[in-house]
Amino acid sequence: MVKELFENALDAGARVIEIAVEDGGRQSIRISDDGTGMSRDDAVMSLERHATSKIHTAQDLVGVRSFGFRGEALAAICSVSHLEVETSLEDGAGTLVRAAGGSIVDVTPIARRRGTTIRVSRLFYNAPARLKFLRGARSEWRAILDVVGGMALTRRDVRVTLTHDGKPMVTLPSASSLRERLAGVYGGEFAGRLLEVDDLLGATHVSGLVERPADAGTATRRVFLSVNGRSVRDLGIVRAAESAYRSTIPAGVRPTLFLDVVVAADMVDVNVHPAKAEVRFRDRWPIERVVENAVRRALGNFESGATFGRTVWPSPATAPVVAPPVDVETLDHESPPPRDGLFERDEVESTTPEAPVAAPVVDVPPLMQLRRTYLMFEHEHGVVLIDQHSAHERVLYEQFMRTIDRGEQPAQRLLFPMTLHLGPAEAEAFERNRDVFEQLGFEIEGFGGHTLLVRAVPMPHPRFDPERCLRETLASITGDRDAGVHARHERLAATVACKAAIKAGDALSPGEMRALYVALRDTTLPAHDVHGRATIVQLTWDEIERRFGRR
Ligand code: ADP
Ligand code: MG
Repeated sequence: MVKELFENALDAGARVIEIAVEDGGRQSIRISDDGTGMSRDDAVMSLERHATSKIHTAQDLVGVRSFGFRGEALAAICSVSHLEVETSLEDGAGTLVRAAGGSIVDVTPIARRRGTTIRVSRLFYNAPARLKFLRGARSEWRAILDVVGGMALTRRDVRVTLTHDGKPMVTLPSASSLRERLAGVYGGEFAGRLLEVDDLLGATHVSGLVERPADAGTATRRVFLSVNGRSVRDLGIVRAAESAYRSTIPAGVRPTLFLDVVVAADMVDVNVHPAKAEVRFRDRWPIERVVENAVRRALGNFESGATFGRTVWPSPATAPVVAPPVDVETLDHESPPPRDGLFERDEVESTTPEAPVAAPVVDVPPLMQLRRTYLMFEHEHGVVLIDQHSAHERVLYEQFMRTIDRGEQPAQRLLFPMTLHLGPAEAEAFERNRDVFEQLGFEIEGFGGHTLLVRAVPMPHPRFDPERCLRETLASITGDRDAGVHARHERLAATVACKAAIKAGDALSPGEMRALYVALRDTTLPAHDVHGRATIVQLTWDEIERRFGRR
């Protein structure tokens, strides 16, 4: 319902829209605009087109779904509520129309500024069956927030305020960018973490902001899509954007997406749905491909995660194999099985968990370490820089997740069990996650009080310092709330990987660099670390040549 009223205000050319909601809208909803307003006769007429038969459920009125036909919203709302329309064509003389249950009660002249205020109260007072469908104030309020958020994203130029039970909840000044508006709707931290999408191919322009892979699934998933400036729902486009995340997030996790798609006017029919919530593309395939590529580029900041293996790394087909060991046949077959998620097992194992840093069996280009922080190498498309810590973190994370999934425990018995004295919070964090630590290969006993006796540890690489890793991991998970077991696995694997990984500043031997390169090449998305930060930065020859003025 709020959507229809909001749309009416936009249709009237409003620049400022103020919404006041009482009790999640169950008491009243008031929406004021500074649009064109209505004459006395128009105001009366606007309520007179009864169309109660078109309202099927309460959700049609209150929730997200819109009316099936145009020209009925006000009349339909009016038929099941007390409704007041205050409107004026210009500052000064205006009209107040009061109605209830679809009948006009009175029409009085009033003084008001140009614009319109619609007030709906006692919704479904005369329709007890529908009243039952009204959800609790909280969920109705959340639905309203969603609708207003969505509308505000489509029309960033309009100033929008929203109050609930007299408290200002949302204040959105007219914004110049999507990020600015999102900061207003969902907060600056949320908006600041999103990655920018901006791609133009032919007449198709895809822009917007999307969630970092590492953030996906951590909070409510939000999707906003506009096509040629209209907020629409389109599963095909959303799917295309989601497929850009393939292999960066677990299967089933859905990323938050805010996308504006602009296509040539003759490519699209936005009027197929009377409420304009859906679009029909003449040929959707190429548009979906542009969307997918645009999002993928935003995630990897270059071509893609999925095609990464083909573009950045020497392709398996062309990479000469040095000193082929016995298992090279299985390792280097032409088309590796597609990997859908972090948690799928690889068909072939390039490295065993015990010895992840295996001898490279594919061609490794000459590698150079810069500032003891980055590895650099060249390939056919340009120069690539790898953040050694992020890269190693990624490698270890996937390795730990495989360990957990397979139930192997690559533990190393310590010659001398290590005692660890913990604070109460750390001890508690350990108890909560004891099972996962064990699955990761730690063998730990309580030793009275807050002391742990560590008998065995995973040994992911020779530089691994188990004591430090354990301490830092426990310290960083103390505040964690209880999560599902899968979330705890991921969280702990990610934290242990972070703490166990080589750091910026560690000098690497040529052999270690090669091993890292090979291990990273075999991860599902080498372009990102587990926090979603770039692991790899690529400078293309194109860019380099442009910088040198060769193009
Ligand atoms: P529709 O918007 O599909 O025409 P509605 O029932 O939503 O049907 O609105 C009926 C009419 O009332 C609109 O066509 C418009 O002329 C007028 N109207 C409704 N809301 C406003 C508003 N906020 N400002 C100006 N006119 C409005
Ligand atoms: Mg309307």
